[in-house]
This record gives sequence, structure tokens and C-alpha cells, in this order.
Amino acid sequence: MIYLDNAATTPVSEEVLNAMRPYFSELYGNPSSVHTAGRQTKGAIERAREQVAQAIHANPNEVVFTSGGTEADNAAIVGTALGYRERGKHLVTTTIEHHAVLHTFEFLQEMGYEVTYVSPRADGIVQAADIAAALRADTTLVSVMAVNNETGARQPIAEIGRLTRERGILFHTDAVQAVGLLELDVEALGVDLLSISGHKLHGPKGVGALYVRRGLYWKPTQHGGAQEFKRRAGTENLPGIIGLGVAVELATARVQENYAQVAELRDAMLAILRAGVDGLQVNSPEQAVPSILNVTFPGAVAERILMNLDMAGIMAASGSACTSGSLQPSHVLMAMGLAEESVRSAVRFSFSGQNTLEEVTQAAHKVVEIVQRLQRR
Ligand SMILES: *Cc1c(COP(=O)(O)O)cnc(C)c1O
Repeated sequence: MIYLDNAATTPVSEEVLNAMRPYFSELYGNPSSVHTAGRQTKGAIERAREQVAQAIHANPNEVVFTSGGTEADNAAIVGTALGYRERGKHLVTTTIEHHAVLHTFEFLQEMGYEVTYVSPRADGIVQAADIAAALRADTTLVSVMAVNNETGARQPIAEIGRLTRERGILFHTDAVQAVGLLELDVEALGVDLLSISGHKLHGPKGVGALYVRRGLYWKPTQHGGAQEFKRRAGTENLPGIIGLGVAVELATARVQENYAQVAELRDAMLAILRAGVDGLQVNSPEQAVPSILNVTFPGAVAERILMNLDMAGIMAASGSACTSGSLQPSHVLMAMGLAEESVRSAVRFSFSGQNTLEEVTQAAHKVVEIVQRLQRR
């Protein structure tokens, strides 16, 4: 199998798995228990919190563990909207966010909030000036992702952070696809809330983290016990949190090496596709992170290509994983103004450091063969 769908999920690395293993059986104490078994696991969770905090230049007490990127996004947006509702009920986001963000804003609209959705330019990049133009006196939160999960387009986070800070508006970024590829410093970026997911960076599924800048009137949305300093109730996903801590630490330590490695893979794939496919359109902008390559193969339907690739043992995606089950064309590519036909022929290849140049080269040649066959029909 050649797995080129790393933006959907990644395999847990050996190092992460080894770090997690004891916490399923030997070290099982409830971190809330005051006895020795509980204190051991509590200490382990606090070390994981330090690992996550260090990776984004935050303080450990600003990190809340969640059940994944989706919960982190929900908690960031709903928790801020509620905490600041006396100040205003206008929120700003973009049309290219992950559904974990978009559907949360739609929920808030139903609850009486007003949301402005800013579209990207044709290259898939949202302009900071367009965000600035959407801001009002009653705007309390801006949410813009760091890296788009369908195209890899990097968004101007530092620029948006500057303008939200100038106006005293809170800024959330979904950085799920950015960890391990970009340096993330919440101070330098001017970010107040930041979402991370474990399984996109060789960590486990079902665990994530939310950075919440200290001093915010952010309201927790899950209630119960006093876990996570009363910011996220429920007995902790202990092995998951340990795995997330190690995964984030490793991904951050290897950020430059990983970037260079996946860039080589992406460039090799693109060169072969360009040489072999008539009319190839590259939907990922020049400045996209190299882990994601989105291309349109005119005259060949993406689902057909993917089915043929699957039969050849090659895994890729069309649109985002969350929408590929339905026939909805990708909201991201539509927002970029692509013709529906181009969207229907768009395929996303996504790479990780675990892919090899040999397998990517082999996959690329197979793609060319399949697309040429489908285009001739
Ligand atoms: C995968 C993803 C999420 C959701 O994270 P989960 O941990 O799967 O809930 C959110 N945002 C982006 C950009 C993603 O790629």
C-alpha cells in the first residue's frame, strides 16, 4: 500500500506508540486520585502539557487537552462567543475553514450571533485586508486557519494577528495542518486561541489540544469534574495525551527536516504529473506547505481516479475526507472560484515523513497511466 492521504490521518509513529504503551496497563491511575497511582499519571499529563506548550511558545497552564481538533475548534469558538457576548455578537471567519469551524459558526448563527464569512482570492489565500474590512465595533472573534487542509495554502496568520490585536479582537487559528511544517509561536503570531490534533502528526486519534491565552473570558463548554483546571471536564484520555505530547514534541523538533523531506516528495510527484498529464491544473498555491498537493486532471472524474488508484494500492483523496462520502463538491475549491467541473476532477495527495521517494515516484507514474486512460474515454 502507498498511503498518500496524510492530511486525513497519519499512522502513529513507533516512538509515540512506545511512549503511550505503559499508560494502557501499568500506569492506569486516575489522574484525579490523590494516591501514588494517581499522582504518577497526573505528573505524566503535566509533562505532556509542557511539551505542547513549548512547541507553540505558550505557558503550560494555557493548554487544555481535548478529544481532538474538532473539539478544540468548537471549544475555542463557542467558549469565546459566550464569554464575550456582552461586548458583541459579531464573529468573522473564512469560507475555506474545516467543517469543525464552519459548522460551529453556523450553530452560533442559529443561537443569534452574526457571522461574516470572508472568501479567499483565486489562489486559496485569504487576504488580511479582506479580514480587516469585515471587522466591526461589535466583532469579538476572528477565526482563520493556519494551513488549509485541502490545498495546503498558508494563511497570513501573523498579519491577521497584528490587526486583531490592534483592535482588541480575539484571534483563533486552527493549526491542525501546520504543526510539524511551520514554526508556531503564539506570541509572534498574535494568536489568542490555537487548535491542534494528534492524529495529523503521527499521534493518536481522539486527542487534541486547545491553547487559550491566559486572562481571556473564555467559557468552558463541557461541564463536570475539575479536570484540566475546570476547563474541560471528564477523566482524561491518558494514553492519548501522553502520545500527543510526544508527537507534538517530535514534530516540532523535526520541523525543518520534515518540511524539506515532504517538499522533495511533492516536487517529484508534481514533476511526473506535469510531464505526463495534458492540461494539469495545480490548485495548491506556490506558497502552500509541501505536505499537500491538490491538482485537477481535466477530463477525468476524481472518484474514478481514486477508485483505480485504490485498486492499485494507492490511497489519495478528493475534496476533504469529511465530504468525500457525500457528492458535495469541495467548499474550499468552490470558494476559490474553480469551475464545478474542475472541482469534480480535483485530487489531493498528502505526504508525511514516512513516505519514501520510491513509493511516491511509483504512485505518480500510476496516476499518469490511470488519468491518461480515463482522459481518452
Ligand atoms: C483533521 C482536521 C480537523 C479535525 O481534527 P480531528 O482531530 O479529526 O477532530 C480540524 N481542522 C483541520 C484543518 C483538520 O485538518
